[in-house]
Formats: sequence, C-alpha cells, structure tokens
Amino acid sequence: MQSFPIFLSLQDRPVLVVGGGERAARKVELLLSAGARVALIADTVEGEIAQLIADARVSWAGRGFDDDDLSGMALVVVATDDEALAARVSNAAQRRSLPVNVVDRPGLSSFIMPAIVDRAPITIAISTDGTAPALAQRIRAEIERALPAALGRLARFAEIFRVQVRRTLESSRDRRRFWDRVFAGRIGELALAGDEIAARRELIRLLDSTRNENPPAGMVHLVGAGPGDPDLLTIKAHHLLQRADVIVYDRLVAPEVLAVARRDAERIFVGKRRGEHRQTQAEINRRLVSLARAGNSVVRLKGGDPLVFGRGGEEIEALVRAGIAVEVVPGITAALGCAASAAIPLTHRDHARACIFVTGQLKDGTVALDWPMLARPRQTVVIYMAANTLPIVAARLMEHGLSSSTPVALIENGTTSRERRVVGTLATIEQHARRAELEGPTLCMVGDVIGLALARDHEFRSDARTIA
Ligand code: SAH
Repeated sequence: MQSFPIFLSLQDRPVLVVGGGERAARKVELLLSAGARVALIADTVEGEIAQLIADARVSWAGRGFDDDDLSGMALVVVATDDEALAARVSNAAQRRSLPVNVVDRPGLSSFIMPAIVDRAPITIAISTDGTAPALAQRIRAEIERALPAALGRLARFAEIFRVQVRRTLESSRDRRRFWDRVFAGRIGELALAGDEIAARRELIRLLDSTRNENPPAGMVHLVGAGPGDPDLLTIKAHHLLQRADVIVYDRLVAPEVLAVARRDAERIFVGKRRGEHRQTQAEINRRLVSLARAGNSVVRLKGGDPLVFGRGGEEIEALVRAGIAVEVVPGITAALGCAASAAIPLTHRDHARACIFVTGQLKDGTVALDWPMLARPRQTVVIYMAANTLPIVAARLMEHGLSSSTPVALIENGTTSRERRVVGTLATIEQHARRAELEGPTLCMVGDVIGLALARDHEFRSDARTIA
C-alpha cells in the first residue's frame, strides 16, 4: 500500500480551491457534497463555477493567489493549467503541512483524490496510486453496478438500532451474527425496498428472539486453502473466511489466501516458527475442540486440500469424538494447482494412464513407498514433501527400472507470484535442486508428461522462473 486511505470529515470546514475552469468545478462539487466551505482562487471564472458563486455556495476573492490564503484551511485542491501557479501553491501548502492535491500531478500532491462510489452514508474510495486512473474508473463502474442504489438506506436503517442492539447483545460476536442475519435476509430486503415500518417490526422481533435463544453451538470447518493463488479458493471457502470467528492456520497457508479473510477474525498460527516448539497434532486437536466449545465458528484452514496429506482425518476424528460438528470444504491440492500452473497434463492417452500421489516424507528414517509400483511405465508420480528426500526418491525409482532420462519437475510455491520451477531428469534433478536452493513448499512430479510440457517449452518457461 503506497498511500493510506482515510476518510476526512470536511463538514463546515474551509477548503481552498485554486482554478476557475471545468476541472475545478468538478472538484468543487465533490467538496460541497461533503459539506466543505469552499474558498475559490481564480483570476476569472466560467460556467458552473460562476453559477455557484452567484448562488453564494462558494466564496470568490476575484484575485490571484496569496500565501495567506492558506491560513486556516483544512485542505487545498489545485485545478489550474498554470503550472507555475500550481507548483507555487503546492510548495506553500506543503511548507505548512497542509494536505494538497494538484489535479493530475501526483508529484505535486500530498494526497490522492480517489474514484468515489457514493451511497451515502456508505462511501467507497478507489485509488491506483496515480498509476492508472482509467483502471480506477473501470473498477468504480463495476462496483456501481454491483451495489444497489438504495444501499445507503440499509446503513441508515441499521444506525437507528445500533445502540439498542449493542445494549441487548453483549458480545461483539453475537452482534455481528445478528447484523449478518439482518443484512443477508428479509429484513435487509425490506429496508432496501424502503418498507421501513415492516423492516423495523421484523428487526425487533429478531432481536427479541435472539436475546432469548441459546447461543448457537460452535463448529469447525475444515477448509482447503488451495495451493496459494486466492482466486483458486472455492466460493464456500471464501464465504467461510468472511464469517469465521477464529481462523486456525499453519505455515502452508499462503499469505495471499489469509489476506482474503475477515480482518477482525482472531487468527491462530499453529505452525512452527523459528526457535519455537512446534505444536503437536494432539495440541492442535485440543485447541480446535475448546474453540468450538466456546461457541466459535472456527475455520481450520489447511494448505491445498485438507484431506490430502494434511492430517485432516485426525482432526475430524478428534472433533467427532468430542461431539463437535465438523464440515469439510475441499481445496485444490498442490498436485492439481502446480500441474495447472505449468500446464502439465497429469494423465495423457499416450504417456500416462494413471497418476499417483505419494508422500516423500521419511518414516522411521526411510522413505517407505511401494517402489516397484511407482517405477511402472506410463504413469505420472507426484511426490509431496519430497524436498529433503529427493536423492533417495530419484535413486530408488531408477533402481526399480525407471530410465535415468525420465523427466522430473520440481515446483516451488506453485500458483503464487513466487512460483519457481526446476526441471531435469531423474539423473540430474538433485543437482539442479541444490543449485536452486528451494525453500518454500515444493512438489515433485516425475513422468513423461513433463517432457511434453517442456517440448512446448516457451509456455512452460514463460510465467515462472524455471531453472533447468
Ligand atoms: N494438503 C496439502 C498437502 C500438504 S503436505 C495439499 O493438498 O496440497 C505439504 C506438501 O504439499 C509440501 O511439502 C509440498 O510438497 C506440497 N505443496 C503444498 N502447497 C504447495 C505449493 N503451493 N507449491 C508446491 N508444493 C506445494
């Protein structure tokens, strides 16, 4: 974030506008709609501005700019073609630490005028930090289309009951759930439609019944976070991340995905941090149980799919044993995400009639896998957690008959902007991997289908850093 968005109250506060033309008129209108008292500096005025002055909605000194014009101002907006004047006003304002915007001149401005969607009292401001105003306008058009024109009614309606609801429902969690029901249901519809009497009646009824209800029991949603690209979340995962009271996550969950979640949900990290002890699975299970017992809607967010090499099964068992309701929401597992990102077909009529997912993790000091099965021809083998055991895996596959020239791809941080690909053969991959110093989650894929992707090469290599 290069600029920090805030909403400034300008009700009845003085704002200086420099410039008398069309662009100045647009800014003056906006400032007036926010309740500002506009003082105008311009040698000559025309069109709409002249009318505003005639109507006494704007004060105009009818002379050039003087540094003293800045005193007592809350904000300064410059919309003039006179470059020298714009620079002079900007410098003088910045010397006084007065926020100043020079239209279309980010270099002379200390704040940005965003594109605005006005559904007063709801205001949405969009900024591209001056990089692409046209894009801001497009985004604005999309939001304008998505939001009902009467949205402001809903906010004003809610305000009437804010204090009463706060008094009736003590915990912020109960209040949030209550308002969720109001906005998402019939009451919201009635308020939007302008039937305030019916909306009021139903809201009071809902508030009464909520007060007398037993608090809803908590539950745990075991949610797949996918491989990293937030656009690969399911719609259901998205909804749950917006409504969760608590989000329990570990290292595999990409920061981009976490950023989608409701900002004031409690976030609990249960992975290993440098120098700290890693929470055991039993500790995590106990934590999930106690959070749900306290009435929380808990999202247990797990990288990829929660039931693929994620110990999701153990969490389900512990929760069911404790009598806690569980829901599983699938996610795109790393194999599917990485394959898609690199456009590697996992199966292929001629080259791979099967695809196998295995874990390369050590168990009792060895990689205990069915090597003869994995070394069969015409299949794709996807190995999760293979970073440390790659040399063993490659050696065993060759010992059991796979050609040393069988193509191998390692994909690190697949589907994120940090994705890297390392390609080689069973004979060379270890050496390439060492050189690449892979640190993020890395998936290993073995099979002729990788050769196909490589043969198409420029595509395979284009959008991520590939080291061969
Ligand atoms: N439940 C997860 C897998 C957990 S095991 C899933 O369905 O994807 C952890 C392993 O998953 C990592 O060691 C790595 O091999 C793989 N992995 C997870 N996310 C990945 C990503 N974005 N890119 C590459 N590999 C990934």
